[in-house]
Amino acid sequence: MNRLFCSFLLLATSASGLYAGEQSTKPNILIILADDLGYADLGFQGCKDIPTPNLDQLAARSLRCTNGYVSHPFCSPTRAGLLTGRYQQRFGHENNPAWLPEDAKAGLPLSQRTIADVLRLAGYRTGCVGKWHLGAHPSFHPNRRGFDHYFGILGGGHLYLPNAKGGVEYSIPLDRNGKKEEFKGHLTDVFGREAADFVKDNKARPWMLYLAFNAPHTPLQPSAKSLERVKGIEDEKRRNYAGLVVGMDDAIGVVLDALRESGQEEDTMVIFLSDNGGPTEVTNSRNFPLRGAKGSIFEGGVRIPFLISWPARLPKGKDFAEPISSLDILPTAAALARTKVDGPIDGVDLMPHLKGEKKGPPHERLFWRTNGGVTWAVREGNWKLASPTKGIMLLFDLKTDIGESEDLAASRTEVVRRLMQAYEDWNRDNVAPLFQSPGAKSKKQ
Ligand code: CA
Repeated sequence: MNRLFCSFLLLATSASGLYAGEQSTKPNILIILADDLGYADLGFQGCKDIPTPNLDQLAARSLRCTNGYVSHPFCSPTRAGLLTGRYQQRFGHENNPAWLPEDAKAGLPLSQRTIADVLRLAGYRTGCVGKWHLGAHPSFHPNRRGFDHYFGILGGGHLYLPNAKGGVEYSIPLDRNGKKEEFKGHLTDVFGREAADFVKDNKARPWMLYLAFNAPHTPLQPSAKSLERVKGIEDEKRRNYAGLVVGMDDAIGVVLDALRESGQEEDTMVIFLSDNGGPTEVTNSRNFPLRGAKGSIFEGGVRIPFLISWPARLPKGKDFAEPISSLDILPTAAALARTKVDGPIDGVDLMPHLKGEKKGPPHERLFWRTNGGVTWAVREGNWKLASPTKGIMLLFDLKTDIGESEDLAASRTEVVRRLMQAYEDWNRDNVAPLFQSPGAKSKKQ
């Protein structure tokens, strides 16, 4: 026993080392993921009609990553990338799994380790609260993917009110560590309270919490209390969507208060982002000034509000403009936990960049691909080559044209050729999709 304990200590101290001048404690890591949030629908992103005071306060003590991306323009693949630190196309997870509890194939492949696996081995208590959406089969359950604690909805969304009517996936009971549980009140409040309890209960040791709200994804069912705060919005669809955003902001406030009140704010890295852009037509969410929406490889599908806060170590209230990815969360967290990640990884440790110790872009290029290459894109510096339809390629300079309105492909053929080649090189290491999204043949992704 003693010898085992000693070799564990040796392992823990030999990996990756401390940053200069840092104390030896490992920070907590709180990842807050919104679902289908519009790029322009938060105060700190310039929104005027939806109050988000808690996220605005978080932004004031964060680095706002203005070129922050997810690795996919919709729900499940983004989560697969975020939790593994790998482009999800590497292992065939580029569609949404259907709600099929008997299907052992439609979910995050068991060959892949998650951020929870990595941090748990490094001595962290790991929790997941909220939307899972990485497979309905019992073998994909969060408790089997490295999470010590799980409470939430295993599917791709859920009704927000217990008495509402909806389809099977959206009506299933909540799951608490493998046991079914009913809920009372509004689901977003329930998740906020659960996350706050996790934060307070685990004060004695380093922890990582992945808090994945299903808000403000449809169905548009805000609480009466949240709706009251946005009653001035005339458009009914946007008003209801805004109510969900306000409710999420309130729930985040409850979690951040718990962090502060339990004395953990200074030594917790808080990361906030959305899993994809707003589905503008479905919810009247807004991605201004970006082109496109959820499902699209234009910026509106994949560039998202992205905050990184760690009051003890990082600058506050500043912008960080180099392109970064949700794939970077795992390697950054692993470095903070001073542990190594076995196997291939596409993300990078952002800390040296965020602290200004390392100059230049963390990634030479970022890539996107949907459903085996139906659409794809690559970003290199300010250049973005986008193929929104087979056979069409558009080139944009994002520095002068964030809205992707002026196609420069005809005049910059050498850039087009280079980025096409880069995409093909990257794509060579990808595999075909393991499963299709439900209704994929009849509906656009
Ligand atoms: Ca989503």
